[in-house]
Amino acid sequence: MDYECVIIGGGVVGLSCAYFLSQKFSTLLIEQHSSFGQETSSRNSQVIHSGIYYPSWTLKAKLCVEGNKSLYSWCKSNNIPYRRIGKYIIATCDDELEYLEKLYKRGIENCIDGIYEVSREEILKNEPNVYAIAGLWSPSTGIIDSHKLMESLYSKASALGCDFAFYHKVVGIDNLGDYYKIYVRIVDGEIFPVTTKFVVNSAGLESDTIASLVGLDIDKYGYRLNWAKGHYFRVKFSKSNLVRHLVYPVPPADESYLGIHLTVDLDGSLKLGPDFVWMECKEQSYKFDEDLNIKFWESAKRYLPWLELDDLSPDQTGIRPKLISYKDYPDFVINEESSKGLPGFVNLIGIESPGLTCCLEIGKLVREKLSDFS
Ligand SMILES: Cc1cc2nc3c(=O)[nH]c(=O)nc-3n(C[C@H](O)[C@H](O)[C@H](O)COP(=O)(O)OP(=O)(O)OC[C@H]3O[C@@H](n4cnc5c(N)ncnc54)[C@H](O)[C@@H]3O)c2cc1C
Repeated sequence: MDYECVIIGGGVVGLSCAYFLSQKFSTLLIEQHSSFGQETSSRNSQVIHSGIYYPSWTLKAKLCVEGNKSLYSWCKSNNIPYRRIGKYIIATCDDELEYLEKLYKRGIENCIDGIYEVSREEILKNEPNVYAIAGLWSPSTGIIDSHKLMESLYSKASALGCDFAFYHKVVGIDNLGDYYKIYVRIVDGEIFPVTTKFVVNSAGLESDTIASLVGLDIDKYGYRLNWAKGHYFRVKFSKSNLVRHLVYPVPPADESYLGIHLTVDLDGSLKLGPDFVWMECKEQSYKFDEDLNIKFWESAKRYLPWLELDDLSPDQTGIRPKLISYKDYPDFVINEESSKGLPGFVNLIGIESPGLTCCLEIGKLVREKLSDFS
């Protein structure tokens, strides 16, 4: 056997798995790009979420509440830049109050640290340039430098002996009963096999493709992904001092995403987004649609009355790996697949937001699942 464990994908979740699994197993991480974190893990809001949005039975809720605490403590011990700045979730009209109340109840059910309901006056006192009729205050929400986080996970996993194969793409997987043969293509086109007892599929946008490669029927198991793009617009730097905390409107009724919100970067600058646009084909294109500026402006000026259209300039886009079945199953798939004839094969599928916040807890959970085998 070449390795006890192979991880496919070097985003923040794969790196966390590499750190936790290499404490126990000889581990290899395979990543198709020249380095880690070139896809979704570098194209997000960099927010440490509290866990308020997710139904209490979900892994998202459990891992986010725990992940919020473990990520702050990781940041402190590893000198990762972060700020625990807190966030307002706001209603701008009476119709939104019912959802705010529902969210507050969820927050209590999920045991979110310090959450409370705030009046219009209190919001005005702390954020005089935000319009709201009521809101929730979540003090445990913050921001993080996700690249520095990935660097720390990479160097800690390397120090534990984890091997990394960059510029290597997984193109096939054979299930040979008590071990797996993984076929890897190098940049020059040559394909070679790697054998392993355990496999962790942490391939982000391609995690459903990897599940098909090992022979799973992704439609039968609800693993198929659709992709949804999110755009971000940057707010003119000279207006950065107008807001100090994260400000989120109430999400749309189908809860497909959190609504076009205002985030504060570590340097204090302001950013709006992401929006939510289904992608017609699964082709990794990060092309920016600049005509969306009007949609962003109209949406955000409901709570940022000072915002002008020419305050907005295009920033970045990111792509969400959205389970087709997300309305019936609004959760991460984190499954060890013995029951499907794949012992020691762990699928991580649909790891959308709050995957960054949950990364350390996902790594621990995967280690727990595979430890049962050894
Ligand atoms: C717009 C947006 C905003 C978000 N905001 C937040 C936020 O504020 N807070 C939060 O907690 N979460 C947020 N998230 C979610 C978070 O970014 C993701 O959950 C997290 O980054 C997922 O990490 P990952 O490692 O699973 O995936 P990825 O970062 O996508 O990594 C997967 C890796 O697998 C590799 N790979 C794929 N196929 C193969 C193959 N065949 N062979 C080898 N390698 C392969 C890819 O190259 C890639 O590097 C956001 C997501 C989006 C899209």
